[in-house]
Amino acid sequence: ATMPPLLSAIANAGRHGVLIKSAVVMERLGRIDAVALDKTGTLTEGTPRVTDILPLASSGLTEDALLTLAAAAEHPSEHPLARAVTEAARARGLAVPPVADFSSAPGVGVTATLDGRSVAVGSPARLRDARTGADGAVAELAARLEEDGRTAVLVVLDGTSVGVLGIADRLRTGARTTVARLTGLTGRAPVLLTGDNPRAAARLGADTGIVDIRAGLLPQDKVHAVKEMETAGRKVLVVGDGVNDAPALAAAHSGIAMGRAGSDLALETADAVVVRDELATVPTVVALSRRCHRLVV
Ligand code: ADP
Ligand code: MG
Repeated sequence: ATMPPLLSAIANAGRHGVLIKSAVVMERLGRIDAVALDKTGTLTEGTPRVTDILPLASSGLTEDALLTLAAAAEHPSEHPLARAVTEAARARGLAVPPVADFSSAPGVGVTATLDGRSVAVGSPARLRDARTGADGAVAELAARLEEDGRTAVLVVLDGTSVGVLGIADRLRTGARTTVARLTGLTGRAPVLLTGDNPRAAARLGADTGIVDIRAGLLPQDKVHAVKEMETAGRKVLVVGDGVNDAPALAAAHSGIAMGRAGSDLALETADAVVVRDELATVPTVVALSRRCHRLVV
């Protein structure tokens, strides 16, 4: 059967496991000349696991007590780090008590009330304001974990730091090849945009061949980074999975969401969705859209 080139390219993308939302999207994808990649859930698998449970000596908490506190506060959250924490508590057979007043801040962490006490779990750098005399100990523990490429998560009880969790995620297979193929297609290496800490980000950069790394970003910082690239004349493709990526996916010339673990907001906002959860399909679809772009214009 002979289909118009755009439609046949969309069908072809579908066979590769990428859902393209419209013909317009396919055309836009064909014009991108720069790529910004999210880290957690995009370059990594997005199923992180708790590797370290480190109560501060000053807290008097056991590992189980620290993990229970963190899991209680994280339980209502959809974030991959939250799932890692609740899964670790489940694996240890801990009973996780319900919390009240849950709230989450993208790129920061979560807060909740447990038996009238406030619990915050999140980025050591972002929760700094809540920290107390335990500062030195927390910074040291976090730095040690982050140098190993892990994400350090701080647990704060009633404004006092009580411990740190180490969480690790695996690089997706083909991440390095994908970065190389995207570099070949656009003529410039992709940029890494992550809310995670600079040390873990640098480690991932070294593992994938990404040099331009922006870490510790809030969702609006990711938007800012994309807008800066577009002001410099680039047509940027953003690839992400999280709620924190949605504004950047919307702001960019084109956006692709990782589908399996992707948040609903990211899936709705993106122009296209990788349904088969293979990162390698991103450069494949960019190449496809270029070929049909050349046929159409
Ligand atoms: P990325 O951009 O790499 O996908 P996010 O913006 O989702 O990362 O998260 C950035 C950082 O914010 C995390 O590394 C963590 O420190 C903190 N954070 C966000 N949500 C949570 C949560 N639910 N629990 C713990 N930490 C969190
Ligand atoms: Mg992410």
